[in-house]
Amino acid sequence: TNKRRVCIVGSGNWGSAIAKIVGYNAAKLETFEDRVTMYVYEEIINGRKLTEIINETHENVKYLPGHQLPANVIAVPDLVEAAKDADFLIFVVPHQFIKTICKTLEGKIKPTAIGLSLIKGFDTVEGGGIDLISHVINRMLNIQVCVLMGANLAGEVADEKFCETTIGCKDKRVAPILRDLIQTDYFRVVVVDDVDTVEICGALKNIVACAAGFVDGLELGDNTKAAVIRLGLMEMIRFVDTFYTGSRLSTFFESCGIADLVTTCYGGRNRRIAEAFVKTGKTVQELETELLNGQKLQGPYTAEEVNHMLRIKNMEEKFPLFTAVHKICVGALSPQKLIDWIRDHPEHQ
Ligand code: NAD
Ligand code: 13P
Ligand code: CA
Repeated sequence: TNKRRVCIVGSGNWGSAIAKIVGYNAAKLETFEDRVTMYVYEEIINGRKLTEIINETHENVKYLPGHQLPANVIAVPDLVEAAKDADFLIFVVPHQFIKTICKTLEGKIKPTAIGLSLIKGFDTVEGGGIDLISHVINRMLNIQVCVLMGANLAGEVADEKFCETTIGCKDKRVAPILRDLIQTDYFRVVVVDDVDTVEICGALKNIVACAAGFVDGLELGDNTKAAVIRLGLMEMIRFVDTFYTGSRLSTFFESCGIADLVTTCYGGRNRRIAEAFVKTGKTVQELETELLNGQKLQGPYTAEEVNHMLRIKNMEEKFPLFTAVHKICVGALSPQKLIDWIRDHPEHQ
């Protein structure tokens, strides 16, 4: 058939929640093949393979327990096997794994495939810069890559609670196809063409969420938390203005901007771990292992990647909140010093 085929590359917390939506839509829509493959990084759970558990029970018992995946979503442990016939590749893995994944897929996918990246994070470039994950995928696989970011805590999306999301896509022919593949009556899509800004918002808000979690851990209250969120937003805007000229301020008012920032600062994993960091004195790595059951944090790594670049460009003092989060996460600054670090913020001058 010439129906469009979809592969979901990843099966963590968000990967599994989006599989529920994409599986439902692919089955419903005539133009899509019902069968959706989902690449699952294989692991053994109580003596059984996770792929077998998913294909028999239609539940990702480790990363999204308590939710049924549609039966047409098929877990596949071999990445190339899962992706080789796909017309649409949905990338949804923690950002530290994307290069290995692309290396494995090089030369093994349809040359006409279209990528959609749901990955929030950056890649570090030798010599001090950062790269957008969608650009890494585009370069390594030589395919068009669009992005999807929004206020989308995976558990709530899987519960089918109403929310919005933002797709960044410049191609007027592709945009409505992606929208139809993703949109449901509880998951509403807005497409914009300011693609890089959409992705940068999704990555940077995780740094701010760590700051919000520190404020919670320090029990500084709602006004302080609101100030930290606002200053974080201003640094996000300044970052885009400085390094990605041509971006539009209006993109920050989409779900990928202010809405994702708010939900992550109240309900996300980065916030939760940052609060526990203050309260327990354990390291970020210890808490990630202890509290997240295999799920991965993006905020502390993103803070490090951004700081690496800011330090080399001698711009740390223009982004005091981003800088403080990095220093606190690596143990170079006590969380009690967070507020002193932002008291004379450039926004106050
Ligand atoms: P997750 O945090 O649940 O990560 C665990 C996943 O990583 C598992 O599928 C695991 O098998 C996989 N994994 C572990 N080691 C691996 C390896 N060596 N190679 C490949 N895969 C490996 O993942 P997630 O929540 O689906 O997040 C993926 C992306 O989506 C992240 O960038 C995240 O910021 C973003 N995101 C997450 C949410 C959310 O609420 N969870 C919402 C929106 C966006
Ligand atoms: P956390 O990774 O902090 O849970 O954020 C999830 C998210 O990106 C919600 O949109
Ligand atoms: Ca169908």
